[in-house]
Amino acid sequence: MTHLPNSMEARDIAYHFHGYTNAVRHAEIGPHIMENGEGVFVTDNTGKRYVEAMAGLWSVALGWGEQRLVRAATQQMENLSFYHNFGHRAHPAIIELAEKLVDMAPVPMSKAYFTNSGSEANDTIMKMIWYRSNALGKPQKKKLISRNRGYHGVTIASGSLTGLPNNHLSFDMPIDRVLHTTCPHYWKEGLEGESEDQFATRCAQDLDAMIQAEGPDTIAAFFAEPVMGAGGVVVPPSTYWEKIQAVLAKYDILLVADEVICGFGRTGRMFASETYDIKPDVMVLSKQITSSYVPFSAFLVNDRFYEPVAEESGRIGVLGHGFTGGGHPVGAAVALENIAIIEERELVKHAAEVGSYFRSRLSTFADHPLVGEVRGIGLIAALEVAHPNQDIAPGKMGAAMADYLLQEGVVSRAMMDACAFCPPLIISRDETDLIIDAVEAGLTALEKHEF
Ligand code: PMP
Repeated sequence: MTHLPNSMEARDIAYHFHGYTNAVRHAEIGPHIMENGEGVFVTDNTGKRYVEAMAGLWSVALGWGEQRLVRAATQQMENLSFYHNFGHRAHPAIIELAEKLVDMAPVPMSKAYFTNSGSEANDTIMKMIWYRSNALGKPQKKKLISRNRGYHGVTIASGSLTGLPNNHLSFDMPIDRVLHTTCPHYWKEGLEGESEDQFATRCAQDLDAMIQAEGPDTIAAFFAEPVMGAGGVVVPPSTYWEKIQAVLAKYDILLVADEVICGFGRTGRMFASETYDIKPDVMVLSKQITSSYVPFSAFLVNDRFYEPVAEESGRIGVLGHGFTGGGHPVGAAVALENIAIIEERELVKHAAEVGSYFRSRLSTFADHPLVGEVRGIGLIAALEVAHPNQDIAPGKMGAAMADYLLQEGVVSRAMMDACAFCPPLIISRDETDLIIDAVEAGLTALEKHEF
């Protein structure tokens, strides 16, 4: 594809180094440039409008153009454009938000720590866990377990927790101290004749066996998304969390619930820890916390986590960790307003209702010859496209489907052979119908697709 000299496309190719992009291919095809957003729709620079069925990156809960968030940011910039929390400093917005998050938590939490991205939050938690183990006089208790296909970020540490090959290949990752256990995807990992409950038991046994093999005294924490997002929207078997938590309790291992995608209503409850009766020691929050209007993240810790860390900082003289932008006043003000809107408009209940309507419509495609599995919970779902001839282009079906959906005016996300949907929480039933119509057209087109 050739682009006019000096066009936005040509300038993007010339100057912009993209994340999560094949750079060689990008130089050939150029960018897809979005210019405006309103509600659940975005419009590109050719004037074509799309339903943003991924809420950007699983994150724009309130949709585009929410003026109350714009006003909250503007007002905070006028009052106090920047302040930090180093050396005992604070500002009103961050105090109010810390209190609000601790109050909202579905399990007793003690403190909120603020960062700028999900990766930074997880990276910080890893450091705090090591610090805590040293404080407790258990310097050998440093290993961390996450899961194959789990996603926790891309920094050297958080990217090591992530269990996806593309995040490790050629980056000299993962670092040691990080181990990956079984992904709880029954449809893909379940054995012939194994029930979902038996599969959940096996996942817990695999975790137990890994802990035993490494030495229980060396394992500090287990990191997991209640529902996996980027690894393919993996909804665990109903007994999975109960069985996993029993193993962690047996060996005194901390549980970190990465609610970066699930938090603030995505699964039909405010937090997925409620949906699955998870009792985490740490909860990781980002994305929908500000509807991604500004970068922001936080994590909550309970007393059991916080106390030894606090004491160690007293002994050393300072907690030697903090980010310039951590707890930024503009992010905090936007988060407070965003959460207020989610509560006032009862968007969690709305997400549960519209999500169940949308998923029941999506399930009608389950018998289609090209569909392997339809899965989801609340307002997050995936359609696994399975070509009858499994030798044909494995891993490419999701991308082919996502391309057709884009032509039909729907932004989705390809993940191997699956196509994910995670629209803004504000989406209406009628707007989800637009996604369903596009899926129907996409499957028809895919039947004729040459692989
Ligand atoms: N954890 C989860 C569950 C995520 O989905 C993501 C991002 N997709 C991250 C962590 C990392 O967040 P960020 O991209 O803001 O670093």
